Amino acid sequence: MRFSDNTISNLRIKLDKGEVSSLDLFNTASALAYKYQDDCNLFVSILDKKDEEKSNSVLSGIPYALKDNISTKGILTTASSNILKDYVPVYDATVYKKLKESGAVLVGKTTLDELAMGGSGITAHTGIVRNPWDKTRQIGGSSSGSVGVVSLDIVPFSIGSDTGDSIRKPAAYCGVVGYKPTYGLISRYGLFAFASSLDHVGVIARNVKDISLVTDIIKGHDDKDMTTLEDDGVKFSDYINKDIGNKKLFYIKEICDYNTVDTDESKLVLDNFYDTVNKVKSLGFSVSEVSIDKDLLNAIYPTYMSISCAEATSNNANLVGIHFGNRIGSKSIDEIMFETRTNGFSELIKRRFILGSYILQRENQEKLYLNACRIRRLLVEKLTDLFKEYDGMIMPATGGIAPKFGDKSDNLSDKYLLLENHLALANFGGFPSITIPSGFVNKMPVAINITSGIKTDAMLLNMASKIENSLGYKNMIVGDDDV
Ligand code: GLN
Repeated sequence: MRFSDNTISNLRIKLDKGEVSSLDLFNTASALAYKYQDDCNLFVSILDKKDEEKSNSVLSGIPYALKDNISTKGILTTASSNILKDYVPVYDATVYKKLKESGAVLVGKTTLDELAMGGSGITAHTGIVRNPWDKTRQIGGSSSGSVGVVSLDIVPFSIGSDTGDSIRKPAAYCGVVGYKPTYGLISRYGLFAFASSLDHVGVIARNVKDISLVTDIIKGHDDKDMTTLEDDGVKFSDYINKDIGNKKLFYIKEICDYNTVDTDESKLVLDNFYDTVNKVKSLGFSVSEVSIDKDLLNAIYPTYMSISCAEATSNNANLVGIHFGNRIGSKSIDEIMFETRTNGFSELIKRRFILGSYILQRENQEKLYLNACRIRRLLVEKLTDLFKEYDGMIMPATGGIAPKFGDKSDNLSDKYLLLENHLALANFGGFPSITIPSGFVNKMPVAINITSGIKTDAMLLNMASKIENSLGYKNMIVGDDDV
């Protein structure tokens, strides 16, 4: 493990003093991207340097990477799926447009779990992504490459998407900071839709300050995304240094319970969590234990799967080989659609579409889809009530360290660990949520997650920044000898 001083603020100073040029930074990033590609497969494409826009923004000249489910005009965008393996978009996503206008320099498009479904990093059409901390382990997903590029110091930040945990969980497995904002804070125009009521664009970096600097640039209302919020004008990067007094946090007893976990590794994750809670308390935060009905909590994962598969089936109904994307077959429209979809999607995607179609069938809608929506509402109401009394929820980000290949798959199961699946709560309610490194278990990074009420992103980042400063895992990167 090493620490990097290539933070956005430091690079800004070096660029402004003329100690480095944006071309130097791009060339270094690009060389590192190629260096690790064979080992880790973090990129779908590594780009040649484009002329950047002239800008005075803090990001001008800073290299970054974009998840490959975000539309970039004229640049291959595959969503790591065979069905889009040659797709070159004709329009820019708003997040890319804003970064381009700010002068940030795109280094490459990062590998994801196919169509952003899954959490392992093993389903991309270009092959598996390996965890740079231990290449026999998964990196997590679906923003697999986007977390890897930050942990290897290839770029100081990257953009990902998060529908259930896809930024925050792989960030935890990789020792970096992962943030998804309040629903609607960052435009999703040009993000390939997975489950629209749960999808968020978010940021990965090595510290909370960098997260805020990037979010300041990419947040805001967008006429092209009707779910975006009006901008309240708060500059997160200024707000994180404010003294906002002692804050009140809670954790959910039923999820952080030693009796519910059955491996030593999960117990060590809980040990790390309770140690972290003590450090957080010593900063002046209060941290309380609250109880939520276990049956309701056990419904998180089935509720997430029911809603996300239903929405994904509908959203991806355009991937048929007719309008765009890869086409297989030529005899008839039916044959083209059948062959294209049969050959274009991996098993995991097909399973989810079958589930989604079943859930959306007229006779099942009431029992499966609408019931899931009701449970979602109960969970969101419960948390919204708690956020009236508390400023945020602090939890372990995962139930274990990054799994070994073969140890864990995305297959559906009726046995699952709550500790492993609670992050979707923030997607249910559109709550802002951030994962920050909190130490190591068996030499692999682990993290805590903090989630707060909607539109309290500035306060969340403020709290996360204070906590991060006290934990000692800020700006962490994989040591060269670890790779
Ligand atoms: N792992 C979750 C899933 O498989 C979350 C994916 C995501 O957030 N994009 O659906």
